[in-house]
Amino acid sequence: MHYYAQPVARLVEELMKLPSIGPKTAQRLAFFILHQTHEEAKSLAEAIIEAKEKIKYCSICSNLTEMDLCDICRDQSRDQTIICVVEEPKDVIAMERTRQFNGLYHVLQGAISPMDGVGPEDLRIKELLERINDGRIEEVILATDPTIEGEATAMYLSQLIKPLNIKATRIASGLPVGGDLEYADEVTLSRALEGRREL
Ligand SMILES: [Zn+2]
Repeated sequence: MHYYAQPVARLVEELMKLPSIGPKTAQRLAFFILHQTHEEAKSLAEAIIEAKEKIKYCSICSNLTEMDLCDICRDQSRDQTIICVVEEPKDVIAMERTRQFNGLYHVLQGAISPMDGVGPEDLRIKELLERINDGRIEEVILATDPTIEGEATAMYLSQLIKPLNIKATRIASGLPVGGDLEYADEVTLSRALEGRREL
């Protein structure tokens, strides 16, 4: 990195820490930013800081929010008897885009993955069970990704939920195996939701 002046090297190094950004892309982005006006570059830097300072996790569902509760948890017009369990906040956005679901969400913040050292205790599973136990919930849709980790997480959760006499359903296959919910198009995801089966 010694080809660059130190501040440029620092910018390239920071950009390389982002997912799917290799050295070449990092360099391209760094030079793009350097070509921006001072205001534009400052606006980008400030957006990062503002998002990091203001955004937190919803105290009920762990979705991203600016307040204590996210918009979805605050919305009393949504069906309070059904929870859709997803891995990441971005999956909530994917699900909302289908406009086929009007219940609540629970974001696990990942999936069980022994290879990566992620066990059930690292996910928001305890919080999910507390919500289910409040008596209003009738169905839990397990909408984790169609990956090995996502399937394992769904199976694990179904075994915890079924003894509570609550319906546990899994979104239908049809989503590309190994894929990410986020990248499924709206029609595919709507169909997967409609075709969910009881576990
Ligand atoms: Zn919430």
